[in-house]
Order: sequence, then structure tokens, then C-alpha cells
Amino acid sequence: MFSPGEIFFEDVGRRVHADVESLIEACGIEVATKKVLAGVGADHVSFSDGGTWESDVTIVLPAYIAHPFMMDSPGLGDERGFIPTDEAMCHLDFPNIFAAGDGNALAQPKLGHIAVHQADIAAAGLYRAITGHGEIPPCHPEVFCVANRGGSNATLILSNTLFGGNVDLTLDGPVAHLLKWSFDSYYFYTRGHMPPDVLANGMERVLEGIFNRVDAR
Ligand SMILES: Cc1cc2nc3c(=O)[nH]c(=O)nc-3n(C[C@H](O)[C@H](O)[C@H](O)COP(=O)(O)OP(=O)(O)OC[C@H]3O[C@@H](n4cnc5c(N)ncnc54)[C@H](O)[C@@H]3O)c2cc1C
Repeated sequence: MFSPGEIFFEDVGRRVHADVESLIEACGIEVATKKVLAGVGADHVSFSDGGTWESDVTIVLPAYIAHPFMMDSPGLGDERGFIPTDEAMCHLDFPNIFAAGDGNALAQPKLGHIAVHQADIAAAGLYRAITGHGEIPPCHPEVFCVANRGGSNATLILSNTLFGGNVDLTLDGPVAHLLKWSFDSYYFYTRGHMPPDVLANGMERVLEGIFNRVDAR
């Protein structure tokens, strides 16, 4: 696995970083940083430092750019097409435009969990702009991901150190898998709905309990 960055997986704090690094190592995967891709061949990748790695299958995540309609709308986005907003998700120049999710230019990771948080804020701001009522929730982004790792294993990470917080936790094992399975099942059987807030808030309390008492590392 290679990354052009100085640090691989830089959106989390030291504790999650160390936990994930050791899990990756345990899988026999070597991580190389500061590797800038120069080319992809049928059986190799080459780097700008002149190095070449053999490869059977190459998977590359390209740099993000916005959807064409955002690029093609003058004054809407920044140089990559992403929409600049304040933390109420309101456009810096146009108070009647709100943006949430991957299309937003705020310096926050492009994650579903953060997209949903931003969408809640944008919806409240829109409602307030139209009706003059309601409170806009504060912007408290956090990195929250659960990665299935085969069988009944999964790894959950929860971290807000990038945003000045002190939460930086990893949960690895069947409990993390059960949480992912529960979310996936709800999402699938409701054809794409998020669990209701009451469940989500309950889930936060469950997670706090798990992290405090079980095998959070
Ligand atoms: C491989 C992969 C794995 C990921 N894993 C995770 C994960 O484990 N956890 C996590 O939190 N996040 C994950 N993410 C990130 C997450 O998927 C995104 O952050 C999230 O989907 C962003 O939501 P969004 O609504 O902003 O954008 P999107 O989900 O991209 O929705 C944008 C929508 O706009 C539509 N659209 C585009 N152009 C037009 C147009 N001209 N007119 C009308 N509609 C248009 C698109 O079709 C799309 O449906 C992953 C992303 C990828 C690619």
C-alpha cells in the first residue's frame, strides 16, 4: 500500500493510528509513504522517485474533484469545484446556497458520517432561513468508520483529534462487526434510510459503554 502523503491515515490521532498500523502489519501489508505515482502498467506501478513495484491488481484513489455541474457553475465552487461554506454549511458569498457532504469545501474528511452531520446542519440552516425559527446545531465533526475484515471480524474507529477533541478509539473484533451488521441491515431493509436519531443517540451511549468496558485498545 502506498500514499503520496507524509503520513498514512492522517485524519486520526496517535492511538488509532498505532492500532490501525499494527492491524495492517499483522495482515502482512507493507505501507510506504511519500510515494508519488508516476505510471500504472499491466503488471507494475512506477513512482516519481524512479522506483517500481510489481502488481497483479492496482487500485488507485485519484485526487478528489467536484461534479462537472459544480465546476461549470461560475462563482459557485473553489478551484476544484467544491463549495466554500461557513460551519453552518452556508455559502460564503451566497446566503441562499447550502452545501453538505463531499461537495463541501470545508477542511473535513470526505466521509458518509460527516456528510450526514453536515446535512443535519444545512437542513436546520435552510429551515431557519425560510421560517426564521429553529437552532442551527454546532459543527462537531468526527471520524467514525467501521471496516469489515472478513468473517465475524471488523474494526471500528472513532476519532475527533483532528478537530481539537480528545476522543481517539479503536474497537476491533466481533462487537464491531455486529454494529456494522446492524447498521447495514437497517439501511438495506429500509431501502437506504439512516437509523432514527433515537437509535443513533442510543448507539452513542452503547459505544461509550463498549469503549469504557470491553476491549477498546
Ligand atoms: C470506495 C468508498 C468507500 C467509502 N467508505 C466509507 C466508509 O466506510 N465510511 C464513511 O463514512 N464514508 C465512506 N466513503 C465516503 C462516503 O461514501 C461519502 O463521503 C458520502 O457518500 C458523501 O455523501 P454525499 O451525499 O455528499 O455525496 P454522494 O453520496 O456522492 O451523492 C451525490 C449524489 O449526487 C448525484 N449527482 C451527481 N451529479 C448530479 C447532477 N448533475 N444532477 C443530479 N444529481 C447528481 C450523484 O449521482 C450522487 O447520487 C466511501 C467512499 C468510497 C468511494
